[in-house]
Amino acid sequence: MTNKELADLIFPNITKTPEDYEAMYPKRDLMEGAKVVRFAPSPTGFMHIGNMMSATINYVLAKSSGGVFFLRNEDTDQARSVEGAVEFIHHVLNYYGIYPDEYEYNGKTVGNYGPYIQSERIEIYHAFIKYLISIGRAYPCFLTSDELNEIREYQAKSKKRIGIYGRYAKFRDISNDEAARRIKNGEKYVIRFRSKGDFNRKFIFEDLTKGKIEMPENDIDVPIMKSENLLPTYHFAHVVDDHLMRTTHVVRGEEWMSSVPLHYELFNAFGYKMPKYIHTSLILKKDGDTIRKISKRKDPEALMFYYEEKGYPTLAVIDAVLTIANSNFEEWRTNNPDKPFYEFPFSPKKMSSSGALFDLDKLDNISKNYISKMSASKLYEEYLTWAKKYDEHVYELISKYKEDTINFLNIERETKKPRKDYENYSSIFPKTWYMYDEEWNKTISYEFTKIINKDEIKSIMQACLDQYDSNDVEEVWFSKIKELCDQMGYQSNMKVYKENPDQYKGSIADFTTVIRVVLTTSNMTPNLYDIMKILGRKRMIERLNIFIEKYN
Ligand code: GLU
Repeated sequence: MTNKELADLIFPNITKTPEDYEAMYPKRDLMEGAKVVRFAPSPTGFMHIGNMMSATINYVLAKSSGGVFFLRNEDTDQARSVEGAVEFIHHVLNYYGIYPDEYEYNGKTVGNYGPYIQSERIEIYHAFIKYLISIGRAYPCFLTSDELNEIREYQAKSKKRIGIYGRYAKFRDISNDEAARRIKNGEKYVIRFRSKGDFNRKFIFEDLTKGKIEMPENDIDVPIMKSENLLPTYHFAHVVDDHLMRTTHVVRGEEWMSSVPLHYELFNAFGYKMPKYIHTSLILKKDGDTIRKISKRKDPEALMFYYEEKGYPTLAVIDAVLTIANSNFEEWRTNNPDKPFYEFPFSPKKMSSSGALFDLDKLDNISKNYISKMSASKLYEEYLTWAKKYDEHVYELISKYKEDTINFLNIERETKKPRKDYENYSSIFPKTWYMYDEEWNKTISYEFTKIINKDEIKSIMQACLDQYDSNDVEEVWFSKIKELCDQMGYQSNMKVYKENPDQYKGSIADFTTVIRVVLTTSNMTPNLYDIMKILGRKRMIERLNIFIEKYN
């Protein structure tokens, strides 16, 4: 029996050839230098920060080169597929505005190089496998899982390389007739690639990040088609898909680096040019004194749910990801504070090859900065949208007190050096709750510092409210406070106070702290004048009464 006959026996219904597909998916008509990239997650888990980094880098490469960014659903590992994972991928890309130019979702396909879901490409893979069998570069292998385990155990025990190669490739050289007989008998099999490589020979591979690397040739007969669902393995699908979809640059995790020799041989077997590769480093985190790989199980921030639930602005998360992806991003951002992130000239060479340290403090800083630059009404809208999804109580309050909330958020904003109070939307309420009367029923503890005597606090507050006039501009308001301060035995001039602190009950700072704490419970708030203005006399009197009732 010829190879071709064996191929026909295995794939009787496959009539197309790789050449047919070559014609169906012609080279893309793009400008010189335009990059064709893809984000190709497997729905075996929920999108994580490493995926986010790949997606972002891909998007930047495509956008900045006038290229194409497509999304491919790599769902060949169906046993491990996780419900909701695909929906989440689409949600995250949408949420962050990393829109693919080509994709397939909910029965809709956009782009001419699909299907973009691997399980729908089975006929294509079979045509390519059939071709390899017909030229003698692939064969059915009947090793049972027991036999495979035995081989693996033996190899592990005797410190040999793991895999089916050399003498372990028991079915590599059986006759086509015997293979056909076993198939007809209904024996289970996988299709393996027939490697021609020699592990002792080297070839040079050029990774765009890591540079030229000498690697041993592949000599392992890896499975290219699984037995259960007849789907291809990752390696095979990678070669077929990235060739037919005309990918120019593959951005993928470092864990695939060790598969390069195999991919190199597979591309060569078809006579195809390999795409260029950017292997991204592992994402690391600091854990006490050690630095370790970020873990989906241990670290909530590993999964993309985290950032949305906490309410980080999307652009802050993207900047944080690019900061660890490229060592010159931060500098570029400082020089180009308002440019869209995808104009960043990403350079694979500037990617750390030893791992990217992801640091939540860093994200918080980036994010505080972003939030501080938003207008109060924009921030309010974002905060409201976040609360609607994640905190009903906050949503109700800030909807009811829309104007107060915007006015409060506007304190010391839109200035040269705006306040940087909030790192995300979920951190706003714990710092602003006192603006909402409803919250004052809950247990209250006052953060008084120097002046703690109830009667004294009461008289300061009373005096202050008696002379309060909501029409006063800030300077007038403050001069009245100072006057009161001096009248009551405090010193409004800090310098004078510091010279003879014992002569006074306290300073102007101590004096205003009393007002601040009675009105907010906190001794650190944005500008007191603005807070008083938002509260108004009636509510300030109520708060004084609450103080009288609750403070002992
Ligand atoms: N499906 C693979 C993964 O999620 C993709 C790797 C690649 O981008 O080629 O790891």
